[in-house]
Amino acid sequence: MDCGKSTLALQMNYNHGRQGRRGLVLTKHDRSGGPKVTSRIGLGLEAIEVDDSLDLLGLVTSYERVDYLICDEACFYTVEQIEQLADLVDEHGVDVYAFGLASDFRATMFPAAQRLFELADEVCRLQVEVLCWCGRPGLLNARVVGGVMARTGEQVVIGDTGDEPVRYQVLCRRHHRSGQLGEGSGGAATA
Ligand SMILES: [Zn+2]
Repeated sequence: MDCGKSTLALQMNYNHGRQGRRGLVLTKHDRSGGPKVTSRIGLGLEAIEVDDSLDLLGLVTSYERVDYLICDEACFYTVEQIEQLADLVDEHGVDVYAFGLASDFRATMFPAAQRLFELADEVCRLQVEVLCWCGRPGLLNARVVGGVMARTGEQVVIGDTGDEPVRYQVLCRRHHRSGQLGEGSGGAATA
C-alpha cells in the first residue's frame, strides 16, 4: 500500500543517524525490485534484503555496533524473524522499528504482522491521507487481477504473474467488501 510508510522509515533512519546512532535498514520485496528502500517522494537508501533464511540475530551481531533497526515491509518477514527481532530488543538492547501492512488483499492478517502485533511494545496505525475513490479513509488493500478484485490466491504476489496484470488498490472497508473499484480504476470495462 502506497501510504507513506517507507517515507516514514527513511525519515526515521535519517533522524537517528543525525544523532550519531548506528543502524541498519532492512527490507523485503521493495518496489524497486532490489535491496533498497524507495518511496514515492524519491528518497532512497541502500538496504539489506531479508530473505526467508536470513538470521537477523546473526546479521546484527556480525556488526561491531548496531543501535537500531529499521525494518521495512516487515509483514513479509517470517514469523521466526519477528521472534528474532524481539530477541534483539530484549537481549541485545537494539531498538527495532518495523513498518508494513497489517493485512493482505483478503483483509486477513499476514502471519508476521500478527506476531508483531502480539510482541510489539507499541503499535500505531499510520495517519496518512489515503482515500478510497469514494472519499472514505482507505483502510484495506485490494488485489486487482485483470481489472477484477481478487478474493482468493497466494498471500504475496508482487508484479505480474501469468497472463493478467496484477495491481493493488486502496479501498474503504465498504468497497473492499463489495468489490467496487470505482470509475477510472482501469477495470475491464474501461480498459
Ligand atoms: Zn469506498
